[in-house]
Amino acid sequence: MTVGIVGAGQLGRMLALAGYPLGLDFLFLDPAREAPAGQVAPQICSEFTDGEALARLARETEVLTFDWENISVDALRALPKGTRICPPVRALAAAQDRVSEKQLFERLRIPTTRWRSVESLAQLERAARDIGLPGVLKTRRLGYDGKGQRVLRKPADIAAAWDALGSAPLLFEELVPFDYEVSIIGARSRRGEVVVYPLNGNVHAQGILRLTRAPYGPAALQRRAALYLRRALEHFHYSGILTIEFFVRGGRLVANEMAPRVHNSGHWTIEGAQTSQFENHLRAILGLPLGSTRPRGYCAMINLIGEMPAKRAVLGMDGVHLHDYVKAPRPGRKLGHLTVVERSARVRDRRARRLLAVLAAAIRIP
Ligand code: AMP
Repeated sequence: MTVGIVGAGQLGRMLALAGYPLGLDFLFLDPAREAPAGQVAPQICSEFTDGEALARLARETEVLTFDWENISVDALRALPKGTRICPPVRALAAAQDRVSEKQLFERLRIPTTRWRSVESLAQLERAARDIGLPGVLKTRRLGYDGKGQRVLRKPADIAAAWDALGSAPLLFEELVPFDYEVSIIGARSRRGEVVVYPLNGNVHAQGILRLTRAPYGPAALQRRAALYLRRALEHFHYSGILTIEFFVRGGRLVANEMAPRVHNSGHWTIEGAQTSQFENHLRAILGLPLGSTRPRGYCAMINLIGEMPAKRAVLGMDGVHLHDYVKAPRPGRKLGHLTVVERSARVRDRRARRLLAVLAAAIRIP
């Protein structure tokens, strides 16, 4: 059975590596010649909007999925009737536009930030007045890893932020003085079975995820996050992995965004859970029974950003799992990650601090 994947980045690569033991084959579509997944599976080198190439991918595979969310919804919708696309294109469309995403959270009674849609300088000034400063101005589409965002702290920042981002449709929202950030990841299978992973505690630097610890946070928070996730999964009659990211303030969840795909904050599940998010995504979209999400211990996952540490040094450390995406180094680029699985949260946190120090990553963790 062959799975077609639009996008051949590191998420696609990890999907393929999880699928091979199950006897699955993969075919990727991505314009990049040296894409991480293209090194482990066949790849059609073509633009994401290329209808012909997408149709070929659909023809040659049993099911289509994607490893990033900024692919053309119109191109997917133009595929022949009967093409199986998982997760549903409706969920992809909602996640691609921050306004649709906020409206979805509100419809599903998932608490989110106060926000306004902004299409002119006057609207931005009004939004900043209504919601107050500090706030964040974000492009509605194509933002990721903190790109396409500006924090506005004082009225004088408004015009500069508009100059920087005003050429695209925007969303303005309150800047949440969060205590910490979490994400919840779960899968729903084509048959309606649902499983949810333990809550992830996430630390970002310059908008990019740096560290995830799991399980993380109080049980009540886990239950509430899982409830919200289940609501979204049912709403879409979803199949595959879905992620929702939240701010936590005063013990309450405030939804930031959702991702209709496997997620960076779930990489720890490869070594740290009974079934990885990648395997469960494949099981879900193929209508197979889902695997247990039970953690094997207390995990920390650290992203390797901009440059790779010496392999010899990393592998010399007991119990450190290295994942190298074999990407060309570039500032701000995710090149790989490390995972450790420990017997207690205390040992895990100590380990994470030490690893961050070795990597000279200047981030403070709670
Ligand atoms: P995003 O691309 O929206 O996920 O933003 C990336 C990161 O920027 C988030 O994980 C937060 O650390 C930070 N951020 C984004 N929006 C807000 C906000 N409204 N309030 C506080 N921090 C934010």
